[in-house]
Amino acid sequence: MARVTVRVEPRHADNSPCSHAVKPSGKPRNPQSGCTGRTAYAVVCSEHGDVGAPHRVKVLAEPAAIEHRQEHRAAFAAR
Ligand SMILES: [Zn+2]
Ligand SMILES: [Zn+2]
Repeated sequence: MARVTVRVEPRHADNSPCSHAVKPSGKPRNPQSGCTGRTAYAVVCSEHGDVGAPHRVKVLAEPAAIEHRQEHRAAFAAR
């Protein structure tokens, strides 16, 4: 049984992943890092890639990630 991981990935305005340190406001902590700030949170599945459209805020992305994990669990249970 393949292990599927679903995670929430912060994104910049151009949809590239943000792994920079940011302030709670989403603004870059270090202006020299080249970070433009986090504007969206994508749900990324190891099997499906991006799940749906990126979410504007993290509190919306997290339930979507949990829901997608549960879909995988249900699919395995049905076999
Ligand atoms: Zn960044
Ligand atoms: Zn998936």
